[in-house]
Amino acid sequence: MTQHIAFIGLGNMGGPMALNLCKAGYNLSVFDVMPDAVKKLTDAGATAAADIPTAVKNADIVITMLPGNEHVKKVYLDASGVLAHAKAGALLIDSSTINADIARDVAKSATQKGFRMIDAPVSGGTAGAAAGTLTFIVGGAAADLESARPALEKMGKNIFHAGASGAGQLAKICNNMLLAVLMIGTSEALNLGVSGGLDPKVLSEIMSKSSGRNWTLEVYNPMPGVMENVPASRGYTGGFGTDLMLKDLGLAMEIAASAAAATPLGAHARELYKAHSEAGSGKLDFSSILQFVEKQKLAKSA
Ligand code: NAD
Repeated sequence: MTQHIAFIGLGNMGGPMALNLCKAGYNLSVFDVMPDAVKKLTDAGATAAADIPTAVKNADIVITMLPGNEHVKKVYLDASGVLAHAKAGALLIDSSTINADIARDVAKSATQKGFRMIDAPVSGGTAGAAAGTLTFIVGGAAADLESARPALEKMGKNIFHAGASGAGQLAKICNNMLLAVLMIGTSEALNLGVSGGLDPKVLSEIMSKSSGRNWTLEVYNPMPGVMENVPASRGYTGGFGTDLMLKDLGLAMEIAASAAAATPLGAHARELYKAHSEAGSGKLDFSSILQFVEKQKLAKSA
C-alpha cells in the first residue's frame, strides 16, 4: 500500500523536497503557515491540510523542514502539534537544522509517546533539494533510519548515520560552520583578484583546479555572473538565507562553549554575518557576504 507522508514546512528547501516525494508517488498531505508555499504542492497533486492535526492524522511518516528551534518545538510539542495528533507508531523525521539538545529532547518526548523519531538535517542547498541530491545527516536508531531510507532516497543521494539522537544536528553544524568560513574566504579571494584586475571567471577556474578549491567556489560561486543557476546570479535570492547561516553559527558557538572547543574562525565568521544581516541583508542568500566584503574595501579606500 502507498505510504502516506505528511510534510510540514514548504519553504526554499521543504517545497522542492516535498515535490520530489509527490513525483515519486507518495500520498502526500502538506501544511505550511504561508498559503503560497502550499499552492505549489497542491498543483503537483498533494493534499493541502488546514492545520497540523489534519496533516498528520493518517500519516505513516511525518517530515518537518522548519526554520529553527522554536518552530520545531511548537510544531511537535504544542497541543495542536505533531505528537498530540500523529498516528500511533508513526515515523517522525525532522530535517530542520536545530540545536542538538532540542533535537534530543523532542525525540525523547516522541519516543515516550510511542513514536519513532530521527533528526535528519540536510546539506546541498536549494539546488540539491530540487534535484533530489541532498545529503542527509541522520541521528537516531539505525532501524529507524532504515525505515526512513526509501523516502529519504527520493530526496537525497547520500545518507549518513552520524550516531544517536542529536548526532545528525551536531555533524550538520560542524559542516555549516566550515561552509560559513569557506564562503567568506572565497569572497575575499575573489574580491582581491577582481580588485587587482583579474576576471572572476578565470580566477574561479584557476582556484577550482588549485589548492584553494572548495564547494563555494565550484558549486555556489558568490560572484554574480560567474556561474548560472546560483543565488549570486539572481540577485542573491532563493538560496540559504544570511539569517539562517547566522542561526547555524549561533548554534555552533553554543556547542563550542559547552564543549570548551576553540572555534576562532567560526566566531569571527559569526561576527561578519551578524554585521551583514544588521546592514539589511538578512533575507539575501548567504553568498551575498561577498557584497559585505566588497563594501569593506570601498569604505577603507574612500
Ligand atoms: P524557509 O524559511 O524558506 O522555509 C521554512 C518554512 O517553514 C516556511 O515556508 C515557513 O512558512 C514554514 N513554517 C514556519 N513555521 C511554521 C509552522 N509553525 N508550521 C508550518 N510551517 C511553518 O527555510 P529553508 O531555507 O527552507 O530552511 C529550512 C531549514 O533547512 C532551516 O532549518 C535551514 O537552516 C535548513 N537548511 C536550509 C538550506 C538552504 O539552502 N536554504 C540548506 C540546508 C539546510
